[in-house]
Amino acid sequence: MTRVFNFSAGPAALPAEVLEQLRDEMLEWRTSGMSVMEMSHRGKDFVGIAERAEADLRELLAVPSNYKVLFLQGGATGQFAAIPLNLTTGDSVADYVNTGAWSKKAISEARRYCKVNVAADAGGNYSTVPSRDGWKLTPGAAYVHYTPNETIGGVEFPFVPDVGDVPLVADMSSTILSRPIDVSRFGVIYAGAQKNIGPAGLVVVIVREDLLGRARPDTPTVFDWKAMAADGSMLNTPATYSWYVAGAVFQWIKRQGGLAAMERLNRAKAEKLYAAIDGSGFYRNPVTKECRSWMNVPFTMPSEALDKPFLEGAKAAGLVALAGHRSVGGMRASIYNAMPMAGVEALVGYMAEFQRKHG
Ligand SMILES: *Cc1c(COP(=O)(O)O)cnc(C)c1O
Repeated sequence: MTRVFNFSAGPAALPAEVLEQLRDEMLEWRTSGMSVMEMSHRGKDFVGIAERAEADLRELLAVPSNYKVLFLQGGATGQFAAIPLNLTTGDSVADYVNTGAWSKKAISEARRYCKVNVAADAGGNYSTVPSRDGWKLTPGAAYVHYTPNETIGGVEFPFVPDVGDVPLVADMSSTILSRPIDVSRFGVIYAGAQKNIGPAGLVVVIVREDLLGRARPDTPTVFDWKAMAADGSMLNTPATYSWYVAGAVFQWIKRQGGLAAMERLNRAKAEKLYAAIDGSGFYRNPVTKECRSWMNVPFTMPSEALDKPFLEGAKAAGLVALAGHRSVGGMRASIYNAMPMAGVEALVGYMAEFQRKHG
């Protein structure tokens, strides 16, 4: 068996320790006589697994007690629709900040349900974050939506924007659990699981309780946060196995020392990789320094003709999924929590060797 260093943006690498636990529990979870996949979601065993996962996530993120934590399906993209459905009427205005590919998708979906004001737009190549001073927020907006980390552009907010009393809604799909955050600054946090939480099939929504109960009457029940919260996210069958794996990942993060330890590791990984890029005179990252993502690191070389040999050599060295998003080309290394420092060191070593041959 050969495990590679997997730099995929998502679905992304999981910690080997978690995968080993899943293997050991595959045929029989504890003394249940069955796999978690085969259990009733209403049974005592699965309800215990689900509650434990929620409690661990609450502990890791220090989620205040006036927030609900939901484990839903439909991905972050489903929430692009669920957000306006839960928080607007047809006449409401929702403010959106556009910092790149995922912001744009959230905006175009919201436009199907409510009036959207693009309060700020990074523009150009979407390689920076618009400073808070210039945002044109709507007084009385239903909410302000932004994307703290743009997974494709590799652009991350170095601040949490202050939007007064208007609920702040954040798509944290590719940054949640990378460091501690102050949940009380947000009305809604949501994140597809397949980057930093666990397997695809699950989206975590953390919503302040006063924002429940505003859904439009025609909101699909599975997207109605209040209905889902009332049933512990089990109004219908949840993504049971993904939920269980997420719980195993939360336990793993706790064993590593929680989000403070994740922050130290992630900062060190990102610094090492950006230093290698900036110091090379060969590799280039286009993002404004203070807005560089800790999780997704895009880079280019002097010629696109080098992309293919770079990727082939990387693969031969056990470093995979480094191709940039199809919309932007170049390279992208996603270095989520599960990527160890050894993976970043191997990548940096390979990059130096490639430059010696082709630079
Ligand atoms: C991956 C990603 C999404 C899309 O997630 P799905 O679960 O595929 O819908 C949305 N937003 C961001 C920031 C992402 O990284």
